[in-house]
Order: sequence, then structure tokens, then C-alpha cells
Amino acid sequence: MPPVIGVLALQGAFAAHAESLRRCGASTSEVRTPGDLAAVDALVMPGGESSTMSQLLESSGLFTAVAARISKGMAVLGTCAGMILLASEVLDGRSDQRSFSTLDISVRRNAFGRQIDSFEASIDTPEGPFHGVFIRAPRIERVGPGVDILGSLDGEPVLVRRGNVLAASFHPELAGDDRLHGYFVSVVSPGDVPDGHHRAGAGPAGAAVDTRERKREG
Ligand code: GLN
Repeated sequence: MPPVIGVLALQGAFAAHAESLRRCGASTSEVRTPGDLAAVDALVMPGGESSTMSQLLESSGLFTAVAARISKGMAVLGTCAGMILLASEVLDGRSDQRSFSTLDISVRRNAFGRQIDSFEASIDTPEGPFHGVFIRAPRIERVGPGVDILGSLDGEPVLVRRGNVLAASFHPELAGDDRLHGYFVSVVSPGDVPDGHHRAGAGPAGAAVDTRERKREG
């Protein structure tokens, strides 16, 4: 059975993620409620507007539900605004903006790129270049211990991972390249990725990761 990967569909750029994940062999479903979340094995948090997504996560009851799943080890891919939602520290965020604080990185909203808001550039990864689409992208200003840098641009981290949590400051779903989604599918379910899709632009393919959610003690 292929894994079911949910795509958070409250706001933002979620449709292209689902298409890319399906090409990589996953089943997908859109997540808007805690009930939707209960039916998925993993979650993609797309780009969009992180402060708006934070509000919608709260009003839909999903914030607490997602936080609980993440604490049990659910695999998550956050891109752009989705990365902001995963970060332990959000700089230049709105005062009421919340994050899941599950990845020890400091990100500054709307800070990547020089004079221009949005740009495309080639990202360096251990598996070769990956086409990066940056749209009002957050800058990763600090990477905590235990967080691996899997992609960088001009020496700055733009793709990071710790365990089952993967975050990109760019929009891989707009790259015309499914390798990062294939890598995520391989994290969620090693062995279920069709040939040609599992070689991540992101690090060791098929890296041994325990994707089973940890049982909560007590
Ligand atoms: N600037 C947006 C934010 O701060 C992120 C942009 C994006 O996801 N493309 O939430």
C-alpha cells in the first residue's frame, strides 16, 4: 500500500504538491480538518502566507492535532511558509503567529533574496543541482545542532532536515523536478517509490529512517 500523504489545504500552493507526490507513487489527500489529518501518514505544509495559515490552523482545530502527530513522529515536509510553521524561531513574524517549533532553526520571513522578492536559482545538493523557485522566501539564519543541511544557495542553507522533518525555503513543487518529493516519499515509506523518483536532490536516497510514529510513553 502506498503511503497516504496529506497536503495541508487551508491556504496557499497545495495543488502542485499533490500532483508531484502522486507522480512519486504516493496517494494524497487534502487536509482541512482534524478528521482529514487522522487519515494520513505524513503531511506537506505548502507555501502561502504563514501568518494566515497559523490563524486557519487554530480556527480549524488543526493546530493542536498536527502538533500531537508531529510529537509522535509523523513525517512532515514544510516549504516556504510551511518551513516557517515548523521553525523554532520566527523572526519578523506577526505577533500572534504561531509555529510548531519542531525544527531547531531560526527563520526570518521575507528575507531571502536581495533587491527582488522572488527569483530562481540553482541550489547545491549532495545529489547535484536542484532548480530553486524562491517566492518571498524566508531566510534560515541559524541552524541548530542535529539539523542537517541538505541544500544551500551561495553557501546559505535552504533545505534542512532533522529526522522525519524536512523543510525548504523554496517551492520544490514548482521546479518541474520531483526528486525532493520522491525523497520525502522515501522517508515516509522506504521502498515504495517508483524507480527514477527516489533519488532525492536532497541527500542519501533511502536513508535509514524510522518512520513509524513513536509510541508515547505514559
Ligand atoms: N512570505 C511568506 C510568509 O512569510 C512565505 C512565502 C511563500 O510561502 N512563498 O509566510
